[in-house]
Amino acid sequence: MAGVRLKNVSKIYPGGVRAVHDFNIDIEDKEFIILVGPSGCGKTTTLRMIAGLEEISEGELYIGDKLCNDVAPKDRDIAMVFQNYALYPHMTVFDNMAFGLKLRKTPKDEIKRRVHEAARILSIEHLLDRKPKALSGGQRQRVALGRAIVREPKVFLMDEPLSNLDAKLRVQMRTEISKLHLKLNTTFIYVTHDQTEALTMGTRIVVMKDGLIQQIDTPQKLYDEPSNLFVAGFIGSPQMNFGNAIVEKSDDGKISLRFGGYSLELPPEKASVLEKQGYVGKEVVFGVRPEDIHENAASLGAHASIPLNADVEVTERLGSETLLYVVINDANYTARVSPKSTVQANDKIQLTFDMGRIHIFDKETEKAIV
Ligand code: ATP
Repeated sequence: MAGVRLKNVSKIYPGGVRAVHDFNIDIEDKEFIILVGPSGCGKTTTLRMIAGLEEISEGELYIGDKLCNDVAPKDRDIAMVFQNYALYPHMTVFDNMAFGLKLRKTPKDEIKRRVHEAARILSIEHLLDRKPKALSGGQRQRVALGRAIVREPKVFLMDEPLSNLDAKLRVQMRTEISKLHLKLNTTFIYVTHDQTEALTMGTRIVVMKDGLIQQIDTPQKLYDEPSNLFVAGFIGSPQMNFGNAIVEKSDDGKISLRFGGYSLELPPEKASVLEKQGYVGKEVVFGVRPEDIHENAASLGAHASIPLNADVEVTERLGSETLLYVVINDANYTARVSPKSTVQANDKIQLTFDMGRIHIFDKETEKAIV
C-alpha cells in the first residue's frame, strides 16, 4: 500500500513546451484521485511521470516514502491501464493477463492463482480461453484491468480507460471501477477529460488547465465552492450561468448586484465579504447554477431574488427534470426546473435566482470572492 507525493513537479518537453508546471499533491494511501481538465492540460504527462514513462524535468516524486524520480517503471510497484487496452491479439485472455507475471518469472501456480482471482473479481472467468477479437469492448476493458490487478501493484494508474466504450457501457464501467477500488483497497490515480466521470468516481479531484492545478477538492466542494471561473464553468452539466454585474450599496446599507435594470440584493454573509474586500462600486462576474434558477420562488424564503423576466427559447424535457433555455437581460441562461413544469418555447416567464447560492468572482483575477 502506498501514497504518492509530487513536490514542485514540472515537465518541460524538448522544444520548450511546459506541459506541467509546479505540480504539488499529497495522494494518500487508498485514495481515488482523478486528474481532470480539457485536452492538452497536462493530465497524461503527469500520469506518465508517475508511471516512469516520462522523465521528470523538475521536482520530486515519492511513491510511499521512496524518492522515485530515477526508479525504472518496472520497479515502481504501479500498474497502468491505457485507453486503447493494449492487449496482445494472438494471446488468450489468460495469457494476456499472465504475461507480465511470466516476464517476472513468477511461479506457474502463483500465476494461475492470481489470474483466476482477478478474473473472479472482474466476472470474466468464462472468457479466459478467448482471444481479444472475440470480446466486446467492455470485456476487453475488463481484461486490461485484470492485467493490472494480477500484478498486485501498490498504485493503479488509469488513462481515460473508458473513452472507447459507448455511453451506456461507460456509465456501467464507472460503477465497476468504483467497486473495484473498494475491493482492492489500493491507491487509484485516474485521468479523464469528462467532468461527470470525475465527479462520480473520485474521492478527490484535481482540476488542471494549461499545465497548472486550478483546484484540488472533493467532488462536492468543487461543485459548491469552485475557486475560480474556470473550475466553476468546467465542473457541472449543464454548466454554471455567468453574468456581469456591479456591486452597489444602497442608502439603507444593503449590498446588491446591479444587473441590467435589476437590483439583486445579496444575503448578509456574502454582502459583508464583498464590502470588506472593497468591491462596492466595482464590476464583478456572478455565477448561478441551473438548479439555482427557480420557476417557483416559494421554497427560497429570504434568499429569493426579485423576479426576472425571461424569454423561453427552448425547453428540454428529460423525464427527471426539465431544462429551460432562456434569455434574461439579453444573455442566455439555462434553468433546471421540475419535470412537471408546463413552460413552453416562446413563453415569457419570470424566474428567480437563489441568492444564497450565487457565486461571485473577481473580474480581473477570475478568482472566487464568495
Ligand atoms: P488529452 O486529454 O488530449 O490527452 P492531456 O491533458 O493529457 O490531453 P498531455 O498529453 O499531457 O495533455 O499534453 C500536455 C501538453 O504537452 C500539450 O500541449 C501537448 O501538446 C504537449 N506534449 C505532450 N507530449 C509531448 C511531447 N512528447 N513532446 C512535446 N510536447 C508534448
